[in-house]
Amino acid sequence: MSSGETSFSYQPFEGIATFGHQTFAIEPADADVTILGVPFDGTVSGRSGTRLGPRAIREQSLCLWGYNNALQVAPFEKLRVIDAGDVRVVPPDVVETHRNCEEAARRVLESGSRLITLGGEHSISLPLLRAHAEKHGPVCLIQFDAHPDTWHEEYSGHRFSHGTPFRRAFEEGLIDPTGFMQLGIRGPTGGPQDYVHAFDCGARMWTTDAIIDTGIPNVLNEIRNTLGDRPVYVTFDIDVADPAYAPGTGTPEVGGLTSRELLQLVRGLTGLQLVGFDLVEVAPAYDHAGITALLAANLVFEFLSLLALCTGAE
Ligand code: MN
Ligand code: MN
Repeated sequence: MSSGETSFSYQPFEGIATFGHQTFAIEPADADVTILGVPFDGTVSGRSGTRLGPRAIREQSLCLWGYNNALQVAPFEKLRVIDAGDVRVVPPDVVETHRNCEEAARRVLESGSRLITLGGEHSISLPLLRAHAEKHGPVCLIQFDAHPDTWHEEYSGHRFSHGTPFRRAFEEGLIDPTGFMQLGIRGPTGGPQDYVHAFDCGARMWTTDAIIDTGIPNVLNEIRNTLGDRPVYVTFDIDVADPAYAPGTGTPEVGGLTSRELLQLVRGLTGLQLVGFDLVEVAPAYDHAGITALLAANLVFEFLSLLALCTGAE
């Protein structure tokens, strides 16, 4: 961009698809927030294809305008946001991909920038949590997801997959089990042990039905009261949305929250000490008219807006 232009000088169909038309920069110097993609789908248990998630989310992010009317903030004006491109992935090697992801995240956090990561599948939250916990200590975790992702193991003893990241994070002491909230869990499982595994990790589980029965404002109040001013990492699996709103994902579950309810929940996280965010499991091959990626881009925008409100910076 030349001086005097803002990202909103561009039409959605113009330019190169960085997130929100923000500046592309490999090194995160002076950034308040860095966007990073992890185009990985090595451990998906259902329909694969999340390697194309970051690109699809960036494409839909070009449709964002800059002012958040609900939160009354212009995040791209208040924050210096850069798009640092993608982590190098090694498609057949989850451990090396995780290592690259952790190193990239650490570099961003060491620079003083906050990090928003576009997946990719949910296994990547483990290396992201390693980097964040290294900086902040064990973090509270808010997990939006249809699935607990706290399996002990799956696939003949392989420890790292998109069904196990929060079990591993719990074992490694990366999350504070007294501040572990799961929102939107639902659907059939292999047995009752799937939920027991989550409770073993300390999870306070809000099923989709429990959220609706309790009411979103009451859920948000409990989250705020429980987490207080501790550092909070938010991980958002797009399959928490009903497949009517987010068909483009590998393990869809019917009976989910609407896009409006999810926006309300994310916007309601004001007042928390938010340290990081990832949005995972967008698989464009099963999407229709880009609606899943569009929802994902808007959720990232909401989170950016929350960060802009947190900073108090001008
Ligand atoms: Mn899920
Ligand atoms: Mn998940």
